[in-house]
Amino acid sequence: MLTDYHLHLRPDEDGTTAERYFTAENVDRYLAAAADAGIEELGVSEHVYRFQQALDLWQHPLWQSNGEDDLDAYCEFVRTTPLKLGVECDFVPGAEDRTRSLLEARDFDFVVGSVHFIGDEAVDHPGWDVWEGSNDPDEVWRRYFETLAECARSGLFDILAHPDLVKVWGGTRPLPERDPRFFYEPAIEAIAESGVAVEISTAGLRKPVGELYPARAFAEMCVEAGAPFALSSDAHLPEQVGFAYDRAIDFLDELGVGEICVFERRQRQLAPLASRVG
Ligand SMILES: [Zn+2]
Ligand SMILES: [Zn+2]
Repeated sequence: MLTDYHLHLRPDEDGTTAERYFTAENVDRYLAAAADAGIEELGVSEHVYRFQQALDLWQHPLWQSNGEDDLDAYCEFVRTTPLKLGVECDFVPGAEDRTRSLLEARDFDFVVGSVHFIGDEAVDHPGWDVWEGSNDPDEVWRRYFETLAECARSGLFDILAHPDLVKVWGGTRPLPERDPRFFYEPAIEAIAESGVAVEISTAGLRKPVGELYPARAFAEMCVEAGAPFALSSDAHLPEQVGFAYDRAIDFLDELGVGEICVFERRQRQLAPLASRVG
């Protein structure tokens, strides 16, 4: 079994409309790419901040300028396709109850929980760059993984997306000097307690950092904590479906992980991981 649960039908650039990308033709391109890569389970998880309803969770200016689409129309559209229905939902501290209401009102197959922001600043978004306000990598990493721990512990999500996204810029931003396991620790504890699945994402290979999310040490700590894994590419284009999956399969194999998560209506099962792509 191979899955790709973290997909976006729309690129992140401005000016991309739902009408153009939420179409049967575009979905067919993703399905064809998945078939080529031997990926049986394909699910879409559009960014929650693309939807008007997300403004009930957070009034960040980035969300205000992006929250245009209707979440229910998206859900209805995805249900007309063979794709599993998911959403990539940011963890917004303090908005847990409103997030739960938004998610429980829809029949998602899975919910991908993300931490992109520390306070009002983003770890991966120019314009809201956390590194412009701080040159202290210890502080940024500490707060990132503490927020990730809260995200896991919230119980709102099925999958923890790109768990060490804070490293996205690689050596082009300051990096802490101490062993990163020190920063991972609170998040791993929360992952163990919550039972949330941890995403292995090949998206990091397309970013300046040039490695999988999460780092090997983080993944090893998850294995030790008994966490299950979900496999995704975070594709924003059809040609990124199953991107570099050979690397992810080898990585899981080296960790001794032989099963990955499969979701339906927010129920999780484990399925044997395919030994290769295609
Ligand atoms: Zn994300
Ligand atoms: Zn994503």
